[in-house]
Amino acid sequence: MRSVEEHLEAILAGVAPLPPLSQPLLDALDLAAAEPITSPLALPRFDNSAMDGYAVRQRDVAGATADAPVTLPVVGEIGAGQAEGAPRRLEPGTATKIMTGARLPEGADAVVPYEWTDKGAQQVVVSQAPDVGQHLRYTGEDVAVGDVLVEAGDALGPRQLGLLASTGHSHVRVHPRPRVVILSTGSELRDPGSALGEDSIYDGNSYLLAGAARRLGALPSRVGLVPDDPARFLEVLRDQVGRADAIITSGGISMGDFDVVKEALSPLGSIWFGGVAMQPGKPQGFGALEGTGGRTVPFFALPGNPVSAYLSFEIFVRPALRTMMGLTPVSRQPVRARLTHGVTSPRGRRQFLRGRLTVDADGTRVTEVAPVGGSGSHLVGDLAASDALIVVPEADTVVEAGAQVTVIRLDQE
Ligand code: AMP
Ligand code: MG
Repeated sequence: MRSVEEHLEAILAGVAPLPPLSQPLLDALDLAAAEPITSPLALPRFDNSAMDGYAVRQRDVAGATADAPVTLPVVGEIGAGQAEGAPRRLEPGTATKIMTGARLPEGADAVVPYEWTDKGAQQVVVSQAPDVGQHLRYTGEDVAVGDVLVEAGDALGPRQLGLLASTGHSHVRVHPRPRVVILSTGSELRDPGSALGEDSIYDGNSYLLAGAARRLGALPSRVGLVPDDPARFLEVLRDQVGRADAIITSGGISMGDFDVVKEALSPLGSIWFGGVAMQPGKPQGFGALEGTGGRTVPFFALPGNPVSAYLSFEIFVRPALRTMMGLTPVSRQPVRARLTHGVTSPRGRRQFLRGRLTVDADGTRVTEVAPVGGSGSHLVGDLAASDALIVVPEADTVVEAGAQVTVIRLDQE
């Protein structure tokens, strides 16, 4: 049997960041920049006013107070984006009306905000003096020409998109969203919304896995249910592999008589099938399929039980998809929490129990984790009620209430 680490290593060795593509800015949200991006512009682009008021030479109003105001003639007005036609130069002993963001006229070295004046149009009465440079924004004080705006590998959040747009970038080269084909196998499965036979069940896994894939930024597509028929399975696979960056199946890899994925793919030899020392999720399969144009398409064969499938996605597939997206860290960063109730675990297997977290009063720090339901890998009600995985190491068979345990938060990076 492989350890969890060995299997994850084998998977990560078999995936690589997808070739970069130029994307419109908004489509790049939450994707990783494929290269450093520099600024062709200084920000601010030009010296401008931080307030609505009057551009002045500070020494002309230096002595102004409420008791001894200074009066200046007002020559012109400059609005943001209206510098053309407006006075370019401020003559000594005059003021120019200026709005927030408007280009500062030459010679001005301070702005008197409206609040410190009578808001005069022909002439202005200034009753408080600004310091030199007050209420000004200087060229390049934020971003200089050539500054690196984002590094290769940086995830582009809203703030990064805003910065790239502000420096004139309309497109950005990123590692694109992997197209993930999701296949549910099992002759017992039916689509939600359709009628059930006597011994059929609804396919929950493809929604579980597609939801998880979409949440991390991939482009999942749920492909129809595949019965336990190896020829049919191979046909669907051949059909899908050309349009996928990764393929995930669930079911059909255990020791049963109708384990279609294993039966169909074992003869190819390019997919490893075996046991991983964990519970749930012991049976696993991973390898490469041949895509179009010599591409290799990573193939994940996950167990069919819903909890096992989801866990396998979290522990193995998610890091692989994040690697393909050029994002780090690839795995969620575990936290520690106090276990509210004792649990047992099989020796030699890493157990992932479902848990529900308690966070402290300000909602930031995890304090306690309570086990949710039993260890059964069919318990989807309990899975939905959980927001964490409690990790019990291979060597431990009993963990007492009150012990500190390792916890993976499912709804956070
Ligand atoms: P298998 O790995 O194919 O033997 O499936 C293990 C268990 O998971 C069986 O009880 C299946 O009925 C169930 N199962 C497999 N695929 C799904 C699915 N897509 N949705 C819900 N349950 C499933
Ligand atoms: Mg099955």
